[in-house]
Amino acid sequence: MQDPGECEMSKVLVLNASYEPLNITSWRRAVVLVIKGKAEQIEHREQLIYPDFPLPTVIRLRHYVRIPYKEIPLTRRNLLHRDNHTCQYCGYAGDGLTLDHVLPRSRGGGDSWENIVSACVRCNVKKGSRTPKEAQMPLTNPPRKPHSSLYFEISRHVRGGVHQEWRRYVIGLN
Ligand SMILES: [Zn+2]
Repeated sequence: MQDPGECEMSKVLVLNASYEPLNITSWRRAVVLVIKGKAEQIEHREQLIYPDFPLPTVIRLRHYVRIPYKEIPLTRRNLLHRDNHTCQYCGYAGDGLTLDHVLPRSRGGGDSWENIVSACVRCNVKKGSRTPKEAQMPLTNPPRKPHSSLYFEISRHVRGGVHQEWRRYVIGLN
C-alpha cells in the first residue's frame, strides 16, 4: 500500500446521490465510505492504495443527504478568489491587488460582498472617494455574494489545476 498523504491531490469530491457536489473530503474518509458501501467510486487515479483499490478522486453517496447552508467568510483571500485575482476596473491580473469599496467608506459604504471588489493600486487611487459612475470607471462584473461555499471551494481546487476532473460535476463553474 502506498500512502497518498494529505496533499491537495488526495482530496476527494463527494457527490450526493443526485450527482450534485456535496463536499470535499480526505481520501481516507472517502475510502471508508466506499468500503462500508455508503458510497460508490465514480472517478479514480492510477495510483493504488490497496491491491485492486485505486485512489478515489470522485465518489457518490448511495443515499441523498440534505445540504446545510454555510456562510463564506468575507476575507481578502476569498474576495480575491471571487474576482479571479483581477482588477474589477481595468482587468489587470497579478500581484499587488488591493480591495476597493465600491461606495467609499467615507460615504457610508460598508464591508460586504456587494460593496468590495479587487482593484489594482492604480485604479484604486484613480477612483479615490468617488463611485464608479462618478469616476467613469464601470465595474467589469457586478460584485455578488458567492452562492455556495462548496462551489467556491471546488472552484479553488479546479483553478489550482489539481482537480480538473471535478469540473464536469459542477455547473456554472468559472
Ligand atoms: Zn485596475
